[in-house]
Amino acid sequence: MAPVIYPTTNFTATEQLCLERGEGIYVFDSDGRKYIEGLAGLWCTSLGYSNTEVMDAITEQLHKLPFSHTFGGKTHQPIQDLADKLAAMVPVEDAYIFFGNSGSDANDTHYKMLRYYFNAIGKPEKRKIITRERGYHGVTVAAGSLTSLPANLAHFDAPLEALSILRADSPHYYTARQGNETEAQFVERILQNLEDQILAEDPDTIAAMIVEPITGASGVIVPPDGYYEGLQALLRKYGILIWADEVICGFGRTGADFGCTTMGITPDLMTFAKQLSSAYFPISASVIPGWMYEAMVDQTNEVGVFGHGYTYSGHPAACAAALKTLEIYERDNLFEHAAEVGSYLQTQLREIFTDHPLVGEVRGKGLIAALELVSNKTTGASFDKGRAGATAQRLCQDNGLILRAVAGNAVALCPPLIITREEVDDMLTRLKTAIDASYEELK
Ligand code: PLP
Repeated sequence: MAPVIYPTTNFTATEQLCLERGEGIYVFDSDGRKYIEGLAGLWCTSLGYSNTEVMDAITEQLHKLPFSHTFGGKTHQPIQDLADKLAAMVPVEDAYIFFGNSGSDANDTHYKMLRYYFNAIGKPEKRKIITRERGYHGVTVAAGSLTSLPANLAHFDAPLEALSILRADSPHYYTARQGNETEAQFVERILQNLEDQILAEDPDTIAAMIVEPITGASGVIVPPDGYYEGLQALLRKYGILIWADEVICGFGRTGADFGCTTMGITPDLMTFAKQLSSAYFPISASVIPGWMYEAMVDQTNEVGVFGHGYTYSGHPAACAAALKTLEIYERDNLFEHAAEVGSYLQTQLREIFTDHPLVGEVRGKGLIAALELVSNKTTGASFDKGRAGATAQRLCQDNGLILRAVAGNAVALCPPLIITREEVDDMLTRLKTAIDASYEELK
């Protein structure tokens, strides 16, 4: 084996799938086997695997200007065009945008900008960030600490205390409800817990709360009705900013432009990556409102610079990839397409799997969904150590469908946005075969 340290991988596992090429929603392995990429890579290849327009935009830019940094007085046209375009799309007032390379670094940027901003306005004590149990926000030091999944925290000894991170309840009714609690009672209880926590910590010490509108890696959790309405009212009441991590939800995934639109969230800050460029070139964006930017201007002058930036911030080829991707979303009405095909996917999933003996819950919105696999459909009891998730993932792959086991025993679907109804049918046929076989194997 080549001396690669593979990310998010069990080093004792020897099975590997070596992919060679892609076409539409399909990828092919080195033996020529064809698979539906049912997770769009890692929730990112929105335009599928053979969009030559994006490839051409990247190569044209590489031929023109393959690199320029954007530190201290340098700029180029693609970064300006992209910022203008994105600012016009997002539901953030008078948006300003910092570009990076990954969802993780974009969240780290926000983490730092929040401190920078509150220092600038003379409130240095307002620095704690609330995240949620089961949230996923990346793996760098700050973003990795905002992540609450055990595998991402264990053994890394992240300096959690120093980072001033608070954890609130996960809004997953199916796995976190108590007794016969209704959805409304569940929402009331976890929001009350949050309010108690805010008061105990002192609201003047809390800068923001980060949320994925619909979560991804933690199992595609769609919070119950009323949750975000109540959450926002609470955060506004205590002057805590709302930070939407749209790294997965952004750009059509949930059947609208942003997850915030689907879930009725009015964010102050937003984080983007992945579908911003259909993952053809790494790029991320940290979006803040104009009033936050304006407040930081004098402070940058005091030290001489805003001392945060990556060599590849606003890489010209990345900006060209993102610009072309956003142009295609608009021109081809891909958000509307995702809403239409997504609604079909959600209906079909429920029809096929709601009564399946291995499936405890079917959940999702638009073109993102998950099946919760349970050992007891009545009690919702789970399998040990993600055994069902791993089995289903393997059997899906054997049936030419790449999906991902998440949060142990859930399997997530998140196909490229360009998927058609016929391809959804094909994907679900393969999924049904795999889930039936998983049931037999796990019995
Ligand atoms: N935020 C969310 C919601 C994510 O799902 C991810 C990655 O899956 C990240 C942040 C981190 O992005 P990256 O892997 O590009 O660092």
